[in-house]
Amino acid sequence: MALSDKSLQFIELENAYGAHNYHPLPVVLSKGKGISVWDVDGKQYFDFLSAYSAVNQGHCHPKIVQALTGQAQTLCLTSRAFYNDCLGAYEELAHRIFGYDKMLPMNSGAEAVETALKLARKWGYQKKGIPENKAVIVACTNNFHGRTISIVSFSTDSEAHDEYGPYTPGIETIPYNNPDALKQILDEKADFIAGFLVEPIQGEAGVVVPDDGYLKTCHELCQRHKVLFIADEVQTGICRTGKMLCCDHEGIRPDMVILGKALSGGVLPASAVLADDEVMLTVKPGQHGSTFGGFPLACKVAIAALTVAIDERLAEKAARLGKIFRDELGGFRSPFIAEIRGKGLLNAVVIKPHNGKKAWDVCLKMAENGLLAKPTHDHIIRFAPPLVITEEELRRAIGIIKESICELE
Ligand SMILES: *Cc1c(COP(=O)(O)O)cnc(C)c1O
Repeated sequence: MALSDKSLQFIELENAYGAHNYHPLPVVLSKGKGISVWDVDGKQYFDFLSAYSAVNQGHCHPKIVQALTGQAQTLCLTSRAFYNDCLGAYEELAHRIFGYDKMLPMNSGAEAVETALKLARKWGYQKKGIPENKAVIVACTNNFHGRTISIVSFSTDSEAHDEYGPYTPGIETIPYNNPDALKQILDEKADFIAGFLVEPIQGEAGVVVPDDGYLKTCHELCQRHKVLFIADEVQTGICRTGKMLCCDHEGIRPDMVILGKALSGGVLPASAVLADDEVMLTVKPGQHGSTFGGFPLACKVAIAALTVAIDERLAEKAARLGKIFRDELGGFRSPFIAEIRGKGLLNAVVIKPHNGKKAWDVCLKMAENGLLAKPTHDHIIRFAPPLVITEEELRRAIGIIKESICELE
């Protein structure tokens, strides 16, 4: 990719003064609207990453931005030392949409996962009677739940995990998409297990979709052994996979749901845990919190983001357009394509290296041709456009993907 001097200057500035904890595609963005982003030279791209599914509602959605700017001029932050006139309405809306007794608002996805882990432990001690400091939480291999010390302690990805020890004990991993593995650990020590934490689809692992019935079976096993089924829907939630929650595909109701990313339409960080009173009320005043969690600005933004997702029927759209995406690319023969998989508009193409070109090269070529996506794990490209994309736009984007792959063959 030829880089303009202007782009290079921004890239060099970040390299010089920022930590090198990311390896971005060499594109410098300065504007976004709906499904499009523009770079500093004015070139327009389809955004097929959507900030890891945080921008399901599209960039700078006018209703969400209006909620932001209106509230920003009124009251931004109070802390939870006082009540505010935005939080209750937000919590009530979440209750009406998702059907849980209570919400606990946080900011980043990782914080919401930590909150769920803490709630599961509290519940385990208070309600299940697990002996003090013996609670176990079961998670899955190849998980991605965020970047805190406790969360990376049970990551099986050495990049995310290594050299961050000593690690937090009490969280054990079992193979994903393997109900027998869950059954086995439950048979061994269910009395100590407080929760089972699972992604309904493993996004970061490369959009790994479990077999039909996996989540349902796991949910039943958890119920039988009095273990909380905790769904990390940070990436899959808010319509991305063709339902409001990905767990809705299997008709199960997790004991806890973790939301983030698109909960705020990509406008500011907002995350949350949803649970019923039996779980949520185990945490008493002073035992958990966050300065910004549930701040008025985030409440107004999240109310708008959820309302947009429902009013614009983003779940139905994702379901219908996702099928077109998989059908179109599934019928496309290329030595680069090993597999296409996904649900709704969360999809991935597994790339077979060819002519010495890998997923990264495909992404560079697509960027050149006006479509942005990012490889995950070297050989997988995730395709997750904002859900406000139209069928006509999707078909144009698919054209760019095919054309880019052909140019590399
Ligand atoms: C992105 C993500 C997280 C972490 O969210 P952050 O806001 O980056 O902390 C947690 N779980 C899943 C499934 C995610 O995709």
